[in-house]
Amino acid sequence: MTDYMLVDTHLHSDNSPDGHHSAMFICESAVAMNLKAISITDHCEIDVFYQDHYDRSTVQSYFEIMKAREAYRGKLVVLRGIELGEPVYDLKLTEKLLSKLEYDIVIGSLHNLRGMEDFYYMKSFNEADAKRWLTEYYDELIRMADWGKFDTMAHITYPHRYFFKRSGISVNMDDYKKQTDELFSLLAEKEIALEINTGGLRQPLNKLSPEADLVKRFHELGGKYVTFGSDAHYVEDLAKDFDKAAEAARYAGFKSCVFYQNHNPMEIPL
Ligand SMILES: [Zn+2]
Ligand SMILES: [Zn+2]
Repeated sequence: MTDYMLVDTHLHSDNSPDGHHSAMFICESAVAMNLKAISITDHCEIDVFYQDHYDRSTVQSYFEIMKAREAYRGKLVVLRGIELGEPVYDLKLTEKLLSKLEYDIVIGSLHNLRGMEDFYYMKSFNEADAKRWLTEYYDELIRMADWGKFDTMAHITYPHRYFFKRSGISVNMDDYKKQTDELFSLLAEKEIALEINTGGLRQPLNKLSPEADLVKRFHELGGKYVTFGSDAHYVEDLAKDFDKAAEAARYAGFKSCVFYQNHNPMEIPL
């Protein structure tokens, strides 16, 4: 297996509300699968940081990653990560948190609009709301890119999964081209990576997030880096479908993907 199949930059331990395995067990499984490096990137949802006890789980996650990092030294590279959800909803809190803990990789992501719940929990959608919310969603991603203090932007088509899963709504990306172009240009300018998230392939929508055509547009607009993330919440999904992520990245014009050590992009040829 080639190296890009063996490095997973986005996965969750049981220090995420929806994660199922301990950091140690994840490392043990990664070694058994011959993986070379993983970044453990537990959720930290900034807008519900205190209500949902991310103040505790984020620190717990960090220390368990540090323990696993020591225990697996020489066998597996264990990188300190975080999936920072909705960082721009409270920049003061976000920046305080990031100044306290030293990460290898910070993933920027967005699971809900301001004052709304995660799209994951929403029961049904209609076309008009979906369109309006998606416009808002891309505006928020643009704000996040504009802030820019993260390494890679995760699953930029996240709401699409739930529009389809709950209400069979398909999104036409041409309607959001102006926004995605602005987003990609900003990410490119700041040398922030775009994540190719394979988690969407395990959903009824069954698509990479984002799909190959969007990755291609990112490359055309000067995008420099892509990361591959399984978004595994079970060890069975570690580094899953990275052959498909690589296919999309190559189609888009990328010759490598990257993982992050101390926020430095480390290239792996495709
Ligand atoms: Zn996420
Ligand atoms: Zn995730």
